[in-house]
Amino acid sequence: MDSHAPTLLNENFYKFLLDSIFDAVYTVDVDGRIVYWNESCERITGYTAEEMIGQSYRESSFRYDPDGEISDNTTVGGGIDIVLKNAMPGTWKGYICRKNGQRIPVESHIAAIRNHNNEVIGVGEVFRDISAHVALEQAHRQVLQIARKDQLTGLYNRTAITEIFKAEIERTRRYGQHLSVVMADIDHFKRINDRYGHDAGDKVLAKIGSILAFNTRKPDTAGRWGGEEFLLVVPGSNAQAASQLADRIRNYIQEVPTGELPEQITVSFGVAEFAEKVTQDQLLFIADKALYKAKDTGRNKVVIGSQEMK
Ligand code: GH3
Ligand code: MG
Ligand code: MG
Repeated sequence: MDSHAPTLLNENFYKFLLDSIFDAVYTVDVDGRIVYWNESCERITGYTAEEMIGQSYRESSFRYDPDGEISDNTTVGGGIDIVLKNAMPGTWKGYICRKNGQRIPVESHIAAIRNHNNEVIGVGEVFRDISAHVALEQAHRQVLQIARKDQLTGLYNRTAITEIFKAEIERTRRYGQHLSVVMADIDHFKRINDRYGHDAGDKVLAKIGSILAFNTRKPDTAGRWGGEEFLLVVPGSNAQAASQLADRIRNYIQEVPTGELPEQITVSFGVAEFAEKVTQDQLLFIADKALYKAKDTGRNKVVIGSQEMK
């Protein structure tokens, strides 16, 4: 038998194993000096074993990126120094800086190495490149974001604004604050399409969408309800306050300078305030009723709906 071939349970065999695995593995002695640096360490960090072995890991150029927290970071325990001190294992997700400056997200496990007498003689760290995982998570988050947005206006779409509205109702039920919704509908919008074409109509929708987005406060949410209708969810406001907000927006829209819109645009609004025992659907119904009252009584106005409308 070839005496250089790895046989079970000798040092060569372990070295062979550690160099064959895809995870980066390195160990430090009790002084923090790097004693082992496997091939995956070289591949992931760009630093060779020759460069690293013998160096104190504290003074080596291999670095974790202190600003590189990963969203689902699940840090438990501490880094090498802490493990050396108290022998408690640590788990961590974050970024390392490669030799070429590139940042790589990694998942890492650090554990104490003990001798036969159970004394800590060093620390081993195993980390893996999780770039693909992180990229997939980011893509997933982006897809979820896109799925919640209306492409034309950039506002939340109907599904998303309905969810947000539902969550706000639950919050209001728990904490007993005010909550109002405002349904908005562009007046005679069909005329815009008829006169200037569908594309011009789209631009008007996008402009109104951005006005709604920029004229609501932080807790408020604007969504496109469908066609030329929008829904504003206004937490912490009673009907009076929400109707003042709607009236400010109404004024702003009718005063948009010519040039930014094909002609003067006006919008009608219906407001409904949350009350105990009123469901989400009933609130939407009340806001819609109020909106149609605004339409019926001349348009370009804000009407507050009442419980009797439900
Ligand atoms: P009212 O004042 O009573 O609300 O009249 P209106 O003309 O605004 O209402 P109507 O419901 O008669 O017409 C709405 C129009 O909105 C008809 C539809 O073609 C147009 N519309 C709906 N969605 C879009 C869109 O995404 N883009 C464009 N350009 N038009 C749209
Ligand atoms: Mg409409
Ligand atoms: Mg309309």
